[in-house]
Amino acid sequence: MILDAHDIPSGTELQADLCIAGAGAAGITLALALEASGLDVVLLESGGEAPEPAVQQLYTGTVEDTRLHHPADSYRVRRFGGSTTLWGGRCMPLDAIDFERRDYMPHSGWPIGLDDLMPWYAQANALCEAGEFAYTAEQAFPRASAPSRPMIGNFDSDVFSTNTLERFSCPTDFGNRYRARLAKSRVRVIQHANLCHLPMQDAQTRLVGPAQVKTLDGKTFTVAARAYVLATGGLEVPRLLLNSPGVSGRGLGNAHDVVGRYYMSHLAGTIGTVDLSGATSVWHGYDVSDDGTYCRRRLALRPQAQRDLHAGNFIARLHHPRIPDAGHGNGILSALYLARPIVPYEYAKRLYGDAPGGIGNWLAHARNVITDVPNTVRFLAHWATHRTLAARKFPSVIVRPANLRFSLDFHAEQAPCENSRVTLSDTRDALGMRRIHIDWRYTPQDVFTVTRALAALAQEIARTGVGRFSYDAADVEAEMTRYGAYGGHHIGTARMGDDPRSSVVNGDARLHEADNVFIAGAAVFPTSGQANPTLSIVALALRLAHHLQGPANITALPAPPTSSSTN
Ligand SMILES: Cc1cc2nc3c(=O)[nH]c(=O)nc-3n(C[C@H](O)[C@H](O)[C@H](O)COP(=O)(O)OP(=O)(O)OC[C@H]3O[C@@H](n4cnc5c(N)ncnc54)[C@H](O)[C@@H]3O)c2cc1C
Repeated sequence: MILDAHDIPSGTELQADLCIAGAGAAGITLALALEASGLDVVLLESGGEAPEPAVQQLYTGTVEDTRLHHPADSYRVRRFGGSTTLWGGRCMPLDAIDFERRDYMPHSGWPIGLDDLMPWYAQANALCEAGEFAYTAEQAFPRASAPSRPMIGNFDSDVFSTNTLERFSCPTDFGNRYRARLAKSRVRVIQHANLCHLPMQDAQTRLVGPAQVKTLDGKTFTVAARAYVLATGGLEVPRLLLNSPGVSGRGLGNAHDVVGRYYMSHLAGTIGTVDLSGATSVWHGYDVSDDGTYCRRRLALRPQAQRDLHAGNFIARLHHPRIPDAGHGNGILSALYLARPIVPYEYAKRLYGDAPGGIGNWLAHARNVITDVPNTVRFLAHWATHRTLAARKFPSVIVRPANLRFSLDFHAEQAPCENSRVTLSDTRDALGMRRIHIDWRYTPQDVFTVTRALAALAQEIARTGVGRFSYDAADVEAEMTRYGAYGGHHIGTARMGDDPRSSVVNGDARLHEADNVFIAGAAVFPTSGQANPTLSIVALALRLAHHLQGPANITALPAPPTSSSTN
């Protein structure tokens, strides 16, 4: 059922087996997976069905270096459905190497392996509506009706593969898509309910609760649950933990000062020119799998090559020329430039960058549109029918340069670094919670990863005779940080590990410090891999749901701490 916190009288104490905070991809997945479990589940969500500026305001904070990180209230959405109300829907699993401890990658190594997540990926793919779990061209296109065309003909490399795929969700807004199912279920979804504080009873009992909840109009109530799951996103999880003192007084789960550290995103940028005029064929667009899902191939640095080069995980895509530079002469790209005022900030930032404004540039783009009318009209018609009006949206603009000269888009693993961190500032939000302060940093290992991978790609393109990849090696660091941290991927701030001195949760996503608090979301990833995180967030949430119903045995935990037992 779906309830509103405004209808719950102040001072009420709700009882539950499990209280989940946050109805984004992670929280909604957990709630769906537990709807038939027999557990009494409460799902607290700060927002409602629509965007509300006062709710979104709760996400504002400060940023140490605004050139390197976006404002704290951008690239995340505080409403039912969370950031899936805005995401791009690109799905792919983590790779086996991402879980390994690698000598060259500091702080690497998960306490679980890909095998532990694999049983949940197919279901995660289904929840994300990304079709079947088939992430190679051979798996996704086994039939002659959808032949597998090579990305770059005659590019045969031991260093880069071209057969792995990205698959695209609709993109599915988890709130919109699963609202009706949750409304019919036993799960009590409570909107406009902000979890503010998780008191720790004492170090002996190792139990937390009851959770203190507030509304923006001043109501306060509590939820006394046997267990709690924080599914509030990779920036809000550490904020919530740090806002509750825990045993140490330094934050719940923070006795060893790890909460909020190791904050990662991905390293992404667009660089150079890939001239593929020597290839027998080039296919850089989308394929549609038999189940109707858009899929796209990319160049992926193979695991052994990563080990040989001491580089992190890395993929690259063939990309169109830079949009703001009208010199490309392409009507489609210029139409996109002219559409800039209606493109959301989160997408405009990378599409346009610090594009030169001014009437001269605008006129040059308008000229491109006019002189390229047939192409532009064809594109706009396709965009209207396959994106604007379609339930499953065409994922992005694909422009094929006639001369087969592309730019290169890369997306790479960021190394965990203890000094890249999220802390609390001294200012408070409307609920009285200390706001977030973000100090995202990259390291020499990150520059090394991208530098080595690009050099290896240039070498392989030349060696195979398919063409030439030219770029200025001196530009690599500037390009990979041009737009700062890759927005929307908030990773590692409550990392998983066996050692409480260097991690916040164990391999079951349970706080080292408490027996009844679990974390769902990318905050628990110890390393980022190259993969966009949401599919793995959903798979981990399914794994956690299984654990909560079985091995965690939460109904056998002592009676939930209540307000009277903690007074
Ligand atoms: C522009 C953009 C594009 C993206 N594209 C992709 C992509 O292509 N592929 C991909 O894998 N990922 C993408 N992402 C990232 C993706 O959106 C996130 O990984 C995913 O939404 C995270 O899910 P989550 O449930 O962990 O957190 P969130 O979606 O952030 O959900 C957290 C929920 O918690 C609620 N909440 C917060 N604080 C409280 C509180 N105190 N009490 C109660 N509720 C609270 C919030 O309102 C929210 O509903 C993109 C993100 C953005 C912004």
